[in-house]
Amino acid sequence: SGANYDVSLRPLGRDGVVLLSFNDVTEMAQAGQMRRDFVANVSHELRTPLTALMGFIETLQGPAREDTAARERFLEIMAKEAERMNRLVGELLSLSRVEAEERVRPDARIDLRDVLGATLRNLAPLAADSGVTLAPDLGDTPATVLGDADQLMQVFTNLIENAIKYGGRDKSVEVTAQIVAQDTAMRGPAVHVSVRDHGPGIDALHIPRLTERFYRVDSHRSRSLGGTGLGLAIVKHILNRHRGRMKVTSTPGEGAEFKVILPLEDSST
Ligand code: ADP
Repeated sequence: SGANYDVSLRPLGRDGVVLLSFNDVTEMAQAGQMRRDFVANVSHELRTPLTALMGFIETLQGPAREDTAARERFLEIMAKEAERMNRLVGELLSLSRVEAEERVRPDARIDLRDVLGATLRNLAPLAADSGVTLAPDLGDTPATVLGDADQLMQVFTNLIENAIKYGGRDKSVEVTAQIVAQDTAMRGPAVHVSVRDHGPGIDALHIPRLTERFYRVDSHRSRSLGGTGLGLAIVKHILNRHRGRMKVTSTPGEGAEFKVILPLEDSST
């Protein structure tokens, strides 16, 4: 389809200046469609746990009224469903906050190794519970970037959590930070942070779509692991704000690697 333009003339008062604005109607229509899809997805994602909750409430009010054992079991499931809704709402808020700030460049100088260290410490209990060994190698030179420490922590939390969740028990997750003096894509010095797991990996056809909101390779598996399908969408927006990139590579059956590339600041200035 060819470009479809909507040209409008708006007088700007004072000196009779006229502003010519071209809006690509095709793009606007697509944005509208995406918004509608998003609202439909959110409604569906919220309704699933809500329907379960309503069903259990009804059962507890009726047939299971006197059954203490059933009541305990149902309450446990209800707590899980409520937690899922809570997590979803939390991630939706996080996504909208990140999107709102996307055009504002973060300006704090931070050593990415500190962010990675803090993230790994936070995730140690989850890794231990999951029987996963975290194997960091963060190098011994500072990796100074201009960033928002909380948001960068969110990026690595999401990636490492996924590696733990999808990587499987008794496997290791390697987290490395490496400085690249001249990164061709970044046109300058950069830091490469790699999160690698040894799980089932991801089929190539899914990789380009992973950062879409609510995109899941295996939605049953994601849901049973408590996933919302928003984690990588949040990662993408935070990286955009930091002029960063993400590269995903995977050999199905052997694991996946999520590599984050961020432009490096000169640490000597
Ligand atoms: P979720 O909350 O479902 O984990 P994400 O946005 O974090 O959502 O990830 C999107 C999907 O990408 C997941 O549902 C999963 O199918 C897939 N995925 C992400 N990380 C990995 C990984 N390390 N190994 C295999 N699949 C992964």
